[in-house]
Amino acid sequence: MIKEFKKSIAYICPYCSSIAIRDINLFDFSGNTPTAFTCGGDCFEQCITVTPKKDKYTISVNCPMCDDPHVFNIKKITFWQNKLLILHCPDTGIGILFIGDRDTVKAEIEQQEEMFIKMNEEYAVSDELNMIFDTVERINELAKSGGVSCSCGSSAISIEIDSEKITLRCRDCARVKDIPATEESLNLLLNASTIVLD
Ligand SMILES: [Zn+2]
Ligand SMILES: [Zn+2]
Ligand SMILES: [Zn+2]
Repeated sequence: MIKEFKKSIAYICPYCSSIAIRDINLFDFSGNTPTAFTCGGDCFEQCITVTPKKDKYTISVNCPMCDDPHVFNIKKITFWQNKLLILHCPDTGIGILFIGDRDTVKAEIEQQEEMFIKMNEEYAVSDELNMIFDTVERINELAKSGGVSCSCGSSAISIEIDSEKITLRCRDCARVKDIPATEESLNLLLNASTIVLD
């Protein structure tokens, strides 16, 4: 029976994406003190905490997908009796904590890692796109309030977008201004009240 109270847990560090696999037993969780599990790589960041409550554990997982902490309440009996228990990120549906025997959780998390890398790439792409959308929206706002003009005096400005930059072009004198789609230039725009093509 005692054997049933030994498990391994596997998770991915949200800070450096390292995989961690830790052996645990019932005695690791006692009292009301949270037990912390840190990164399996070199960053020493805290990834998971497990706090015992009466008949359950409150498990807080720093999510490697959405960077938010997710809190799960799992009955102790469920925690220890399941062959494989997977806790999922509620936003992306991705498994973020695996509890089971060592070989099983290792296989599961390695499978998950591929998915994780793919999803993260998609997230990065959508971040870039959102930056472009935000930047364009900001330029449109400024244009509406007459804040976009050319040094020739014209305010007939066209906007072109590609994946790296936003190009403002004066329809009258063909002067051009490129605004790179970066966080830095978006921040500049958010604080600017005018854009002048010069
Ligand atoms: Zn780490
Ligand atoms: Zn999440
Ligand atoms: Zn002009």
